[in-house]
Amino acid sequence: MSIKIVLASQNKKKIAELRTLLCEYIPDIEILSLADAGIEGDIIEDGETFAENALIKARAAAASGYIGVGDDSGICVRALDWAPGIYSARYAGEHGDDLANLKLLLKNMEKETDRAAEFRCCIACVFPDGSEPIVAYGDVKGELLYESAGEGGFGYDPIFYYPPFGKSFGEIPAEQKNKISHRAVALQAFAEALRERLLIQR
Ligand code: IMP
Repeated sequence: MSIKIVLASQNKKKIAELRTLLCEYIPDIEILSLADAGIEGDIIEDGETFAENALIKARAAAASGYIGVGDDSGICVRALDWAPGIYSARYAGEHGDDLANLKLLLKNMEKETDRAAEFRCCIACVFPDGSEPIVAYGDVKGELLYESAGEGGFGYDPIFYYPPFGKSFGEIPAEQKNKISHRAVALQAFAEALRERLLIQR
């Protein structure tokens, strides 16, 4: 019998990415979206940290009776006291306006010489039997550029310079980014922890 987990996301790319990676670790896993699991309505993300928001989403998904998984991520800039952080998707006001968010961040960093920045991701997993949730983290460190470079990726990718590649995330193919990104690191840690947990439970 396959193990079902429900991912609290409508984002098809995220679901596909999770499916690919988790299947390598747990071949008999089946990933459902919220809609597949019959869960409707918006989840209110009012946590104060990436982990709190990821847990809020995971709990909502676990209300389906299956294992629930949620994630939260964003960009954190040292010179701005690690903002925008959990507010990355709505930094400029409207949720999901990637271009406005990027422009505002560039503007707020115009005169700043400390360019250290990192993407952070948290993936949380809640079990319907109430056992201890899994919380996995990942980050990737880089520098904020003064202007966009490249047109690939999404969100803040074109202004995030990754020193090991000598390029911005907007200039590298998705397959390359997906091997080293904050999400990839968190996903890997999560997949390993979930496999351990399921082996113990079986
Ligand atoms: P979410 O975790 O999908 O809600 O992402 C929150 C926001 O963080 C996104 O809207 C982006 O602005 C930003 N973000 C998260 N991950 C990335 C990434 O890999 N590249 C660029 N921006 C990202």
